[in-house]
Amino acid sequence: MKNIQAIRGMNDILPDTSKYWAMVEGILKQIVLQYGYQEIRLPLIESTKLFSRTIGEATDIVEKEMYTFLDRNGDSLTLRPEGTASCIRAGIEHGLFYNQVRRLFYYGPMFRHERPQKGRYRQFHQFGVEAYGLAGPDIDAEIMLLARSFWQELKIDNKVELQINTLGNADARAKYRERLVEYFKGHYEFLDEDSKRRLLSNPLRILDSKNPGLQDLIKNAPKIFECLDSEARRHFDGLCDILDKVNIPYVVNPRLVRGLDYYCLTVFEWVTTDIGAQNAVCAGGHYDGLVAEMGGKATPAIGFALGLERLLSLAVDSLRLPSSDVVYFVLLGDQAKASGMLLADKIRQNSKVSVIVNCGGGDLSTQLKRANKSEANIALILGEAELVKGEVLLKYLRENKPQENVKLEDVGNFLNSNN
Ligand code: ATP
Ligand code: MG
Repeated sequence: MKNIQAIRGMNDILPDTSKYWAMVEGILKQIVLQYGYQEIRLPLIESTKLFSRTIGEATDIVEKEMYTFLDRNGDSLTLRPEGTASCIRAGIEHGLFYNQVRRLFYYGPMFRHERPQKGRYRQFHQFGVEAYGLAGPDIDAEIMLLARSFWQELKIDNKVELQINTLGNADARAKYRERLVEYFKGHYEFLDEDSKRRLLSNPLRILDSKNPGLQDLIKNAPKIFECLDSEARRHFDGLCDILDKVNIPYVVNPRLVRGLDYYCLTVFEWVTTDIGAQNAVCAGGHYDGLVAEMGGKATPAIGFALGLERLLSLAVDSLRLPSSDVVYFVLLGDQAKASGMLLADKIRQNSKVSVIVNCGGGDLSTQLKRANKSEANIALILGEAELVKGEVLLKYLRENKPQENVKLEDVGNFLNSNN
C-alpha cells in the first residue's frame, strides 16, 4: 500500500516538540486558574447552524473555511472553527449563565480550511478565555492583565503589542456602516473584488483587508469614534484609564474590526512583528448580544482566543524545559528480570523520577547502549550479585562521576536528593 500521509495543514506534534506544548499549556492553565477561571471541555463537532448563525454568513470562516459534512443521518455538522459559539451553546444548555458570573477557559484543536503557510494551518490550536455576566470595562482590563501575565511568564512581553478599538453598540455600527459605504462607494474603482463584495455584505470588513494597494484608502476612511454614543465612549475611556493605571501599554487602532459578526464595544488583538505575516497572536472582544441572540437571557460577555502555534513559535527560544529525571533500569539474569518490574514500581512510588525498565533482554553492554540512547541520565544495574546484597549499582551516564552501590530501599530517596 502506498504510504498514507497526514492531511495538508494538519500537523503531527512529535515527542521533541510536544514537551514544549505541554509546558506552555501548563503555564497558561496555571495562570488562568489563578485568575479564577474554570475549565470547560467542549465537543469538536457541532451543528453547522451554530457557527453559520453566530459567526456571521459574510465572514471568512463561514464563507469559505468551515469543514462541513453530512453525517450518516443526513444532519449537517461542522468541525469547530472556534470556541465561543460552543461555549455559549453549552452555557445556555446547562444554565451556566443564569444570574451568575462565569469565568471559563478551554483549549484544543480548531479547524479551518485555509491556505496552509507558516502560522496558518487547517488544524490549529487555541487557548480561549471567556467571562460572562460582567459588562466591563473592569473585566476588559482583567482579561488583558491575564494575557499580559502569559507573555511575562513566557518571557515574550517585549515581542507583543496590545492594540485596542471599540465597535460601539449596534446603533453606532449601523451609522458607521452607512458612512463607510458612502466613503468606499466614492472610491469604488480602487476596491479589489473582495472589498466590492464586502461593500454589500459586511463593509466593516474592508478595514481588515491585508491588500497593500488598499491601505491608503483604508487609512483615510471615516473612524468609528465619530459615531459612538456617550455610553460606548465612557466604556472605552474607562478601559484606557485602567490600562494606564496598571501599566499596560496599548495602541488605539481604529482599523481593528475583527472578522466575526458578534463583536461590540471593546475589541483587541495582541500582535507581533516577530513571526512574519501572520501577526495576531491573541484576539478577542465583547459580544454582549450573542447569548440573547442564541436564546439565553441577555448576558454581557467578553473573551479572547490565543493561537498556540503562533505563541509557541514566539516563545520556544526562551523556554527552558525542566531538567528530566529519568533512570534506565538494566536487568541481568532471570531472577533480576522477575523482580525488576516490581522494584521499578517501588522506585516510582518513592520518588519523582521516571523509570524506564529494560525490555527485550540483552547483555550488559546492549542494555547500557539502550540506556545511553534514551533520555536517562542514570542507569541502575541489577544482576544476581546485586540482588543477593539487596543493592543496585548506580552509574552516571552523562556526568563523570564514580558509580555507587545503593541499597534497594534507599534508591527512591537517593534519586530524589540527587536530581
Ligand atoms: P487571521 O486574521 O490571522 O486570519 P483570525 O481573525 O481569523 O486571524 P481569530 O478567529 O480571531 O483569528 O482566532 C484567534 C487566534 O487564533 C488568532 O489570533 C491566531 O493566533 C489563531 N489562528 C486563527 N486562525 C489560525 C490558523 N488557521 N492557524 C493558526 N492559528 C490561527
Ligand atoms: Mg482568519
